[in-house]
Amino acid sequence: MSPKKTQTKVHQPNQVVDEARRLRERREKTYRERALKIFPWICARCGREFSGRKVRELTVHHKDHNHDNNPSNGSNWELLCIYCHENEHSRDQVAEWYGGTTLGGEQAVSSGHQPFAALEDLLKNKK
Ligand SMILES: [Zn+2]
Ligand SMILES: [Zn+2]
Repeated sequence: MSPKKTQTKVHQPNQVVDEARRLRERREKTYRERALKIFPWICARCGREFSGRKVRELTVHHKDHNHDNNPSNGSNWELLCIYCHENEHSRDQVAEWYGGTTLGGEQAVSSGHQPFAALEDLLKNKK
């Protein structure tokens, strides 16, 4: 409810992005909550069940990939766990849900982890 005057000095792109993100977050929260009310807390792909705080890992997927298509009966939504959701989208489209909701900056895949490097070290030590 704050009538923001955009003519002051909102030239900083960050601010605009911030604003857009906030709006989207609010909207996402709304339809997510709604979806969680309509659907059972089960991933539609792998069938994993979620409860309590785990439900954070359940995300709302838009069947037609259109974020703005949010019919209140949920016909465009699908609850997917974050893993299945990632699969559902090709890598570069994951921004759909990464963009708004951050999972606490948590990296899903730690690219720095090299199991073989550790193995080599192990072997080296075992001369
Ligand atoms: Zn799943
Ligand atoms: Zn999706």
